[in-house]
Amino acid sequence: MSTAFHGAEFCWMNGDVIETGKALVSAMEPIHLGIFEGIKAYVENDVQSRGNLNIFRWRPHVERLRRSAAVCGMRIPYTNEELLEATRKTIRANRFDTNVYIQPRIWPKAGTPQDVHVVVPAWTFETVLGRDNQQFSKNRRFMISSWRRIASDALPPQAKSWANYGNSALALREAQRLGCDGAIFLDNRGFVSEGTGACVMAVRNGKVTTPPVTASILESVTRETLLKVIAEDLNIPVDVSDIARVELYASDEVFLCGTGGEITPLTSIDDLPLGKEYPGPVTKRIAEYYANILEGKTEKHKEWLTPV
Ligand code: PMP
Repeated sequence: MSTAFHGAEFCWMNGDVIETGKALVSAMEPIHLGIFEGIKAYVENDVQSRGNLNIFRWRPHVERLRRSAAVCGMRIPYTNEELLEATRKTIRANRFDTNVYIQPRIWPKAGTPQDVHVVVPAWTFETVLGRDNQQFSKNRRFMISSWRRIASDALPPQAKSWANYGNSALALREAQRLGCDGAIFLDNRGFVSEGTGACVMAVRNGKVTTPPVTASILESVTRETLLKVIAEDLNIPVDVSDIARVELYASDEVFLCGTGGEITPLTSIDDLPLGKEYPGPVTKRIAEYYANILEGKTEKHKEWLTPV
């Protein structure tokens, strides 16, 4: 039995939970047309319900999956409830009891493109979270990519399609070649866009600013979540507006936000160190609060947690 897929023995494919090693398709599949989602489930760390697994913000993720499919001309033949059940079954079949990353994938079937394959793989991950752990405070030397983010009149960055990640891979490869940990894209107008797999937030004089959706970014669930809680729960001023490259350099703190990397502070951009303290105090405060929401430790926003 193969456990090659990140140690996940089972996945859900086209209606059934099957062994990951048997989730096989033809090499002739139109793989360039696929879309996907990245979703996480966290172990609850609340005094009353320690140990339960909760999917974070299931609804906006599944809605974005549906929007991505529509933009790319596909129809998902399952309801949101059926996809949720598929996800639960996959997690249970693998007997996961730690944090889980879920990555539903959809692409047209070879020969009958009106039909699609729907696969729900899931695997475990190490969290970054807002605790002052090594992952969170590790130095991150970033650069502005020489590659521009794909423009929405070429490949829509608002759809989570695999094709968009070719652009991300070029930027990441360039960054690694130059000894950096990652890259930030400018959009085709020259304004700050996003990271290769996360959105950007800049802190200056106590205010958090993030680029608008028109800056060629993915409509990030984490970004939307943070915009709400930073303003409403933490009373920190937030602004959605274009950021010029030099404004990013002049920021006191810059962090990335996304499902995968959660909240990841950056140490420098183009070797210009950010602020005086690393990770910065505003990033720390937001990350700590966000971590508590993910782990069900705050009474507020339990509606964002869907039990497995
Ligand atoms: N931008 C890109 C290019 C991404 O791949 C991701 C990760 N899905 C994000 C932003 C963050 O989106 P989310 O918060 O929904 O994970």
